Amino acid sequence: MNDLKESWKETGKGLGHAFRDLGKTLIKSADVAVDKAEEWAHNDDAQQAAQQAQGGAEQAAAGAAQAADAARAATQVAAWVCPNCGVTATTKFCPECGTPRPL
Ligand SMILES: [Zn+2]
Repeated sequence: MNDLKESWKETGKGLGHAFRDLGKTLIKSADVAVDKAEEWAHNDDAQQAAQQAQGGAEQAAAGAAQAADAARAATQVAAWVCPNCGVTATTKFCPECGTPRPL
């Protein structure tokens, strides 16, 4: 029982140090962010570029999601019964005999 207590004490100490370091890093990051924001505020071009970069990233993410949907739609179709062997398939071709899905 004491071992467990000691173990938690050590864990707590470790976590305390980790959070203290994390706090320091966050404060440093915030300082840098404020500096950058001020730089941007004095430079319209940079601000615009930052906005465009963000918009580009959002568009890229949306495009990737659409591509994933399209890929899923291309490989998965509504369930159908193969007229050749009677197997139920959810792909474009019968998994049993390879007959293409009737239109
Ligand atoms: Zn079939």
